[in-house]
Amino acid sequence: MDAGADRPVSGRPAGGRPVIGGVRSAFAPWEDPDAAPLVRFEGVSKRFGEHAAVEDVSLDIYEWEFFALLGPSGCGKTTLMRLLAGLETPDAGRILLRGEDITGLPPHARPTNMMFQSYALFPHLTVAQNVAFGLRQQRLPKREIAERVEEMLALVRLEGLGRRRPDQLSGGQKQRVALARAIAPRPRILLLDEPLAALDKKLRDETQFELMRLQHELRMTFLIVTHDQEEAMVVADRIAVMREGRIVQVGRPAEVYEAPANRYVAEFIGDVNLFEGQVTASTGQSVSVASAAADLVADSTQGFEHGQPVWIAVRPEKLVLHQDQPPRAPNLLAGEIREVGYLGDWTIVIAATAPGRTVRVALANTARASTRPLAVGAPVWLSFAPDAAMVLTR
Ligand code: ATP
Repeated sequence: MDAGADRPVSGRPAGGRPVIGGVRSAFAPWEDPDAAPLVRFEGVSKRFGEHAAVEDVSLDIYEWEFFALLGPSGCGKTTLMRLLAGLETPDAGRILLRGEDITGLPPHARPTNMMFQSYALFPHLTVAQNVAFGLRQQRLPKREIAERVEEMLALVRLEGLGRRRPDQLSGGQKQRVALARAIAPRPRILLLDEPLAALDKKLRDETQFELMRLQHELRMTFLIVTHDQEEAMVVADRIAVMREGRIVQVGRPAEVYEAPANRYVAEFIGDVNLFEGQVTASTGQSVSVASAAADLVADSTQGFEHGQPVWIAVRPEKLVLHQDQPPRAPNLLAGEIREVGYLGDWTIVIAATAPGRTVRVALANTARASTRPLAVGAPVWLSFAPDAAMVLTR
């Protein structure tokens, strides 16, 4: 096994420490035609009886990438990860590592290690023995194992807890032991199957940043499986959105959020208001759409046919709420407040714009108190800028 730590990584700024997270914009090896992927899924399919769990998936993952497989329960993301780990065998297609076919290799011969959702810690072993487990299997000298265990415990901030047993740890500490155990053998690719699912929200939020820190410091490639879109958005360089065994879109978090490939992705990643309608004009810069709610206009350089059915998609935070009718505003809808949900940082307003139709608006609470409270039943006007709208054809 080999962490590949000293290899030049395409797309990284030379020298300086890259910025973490969604703004790590200088890291984009997938945009470099000369960059070779670390992992390549090539037309991979896996069936369980009649059921196609993974269907014709082709996907490249690059060295030092933090890659997320995202989708609803049962969409095949764990199966795809298990195929990479060698825990499942594909019925069709190949899996390549740096261009070499590893499809037939058993799990122990692959440079991957998996951290399971359940953590699967050995209850009768101490924390240090748990972390040392993979290193013993690698038959490393005792001193080296002891040093590596200390290093790993420091890395996950569990110094001094090496002698405890798993049942003497909190949920968050167990999660970190499992992480240290998975990282200790220095796999080239760490596979994380819903690693934070058992943690409460605050701990999960903190641990997401810990994962990002670790991934940077260790220069490992991380592949995470999650059904939590926020988690994927926070940690990942790129996200593959899956549906019924297939990959529907691969992109940076901001790309899948701001330019979803279709309604499925738009609705799965965050909240969205969809207005169905027909194209009445298309100029190559903007498109006009007649919808039941109103005549709408959206920026789009795509060409559309007259009468073509489309959906105008608008994120709740991109709608503007007016408590008095504005004299002029683009894409103006009249409505009535139905529900108001105060979340502290945001207030969510559900407004009825027509019988059976509601629109969701998210208002950032940037001031401490609103001058005019939002009352259920009050009339409101909602608008959105043409460049805030996404035009979807599927
Ligand atoms: P979850 O988030 O619930 O774990 P997932 O997206 O990871 O879901 P998979 O676990 O990959 O989904 O499962 C994909 C489909 O394949 C599901 O319909 C599941 O029931 C089926 N499946 C997975 N493993 C097996 C198996 N060993 N035998 C039969 N069917 C399986």
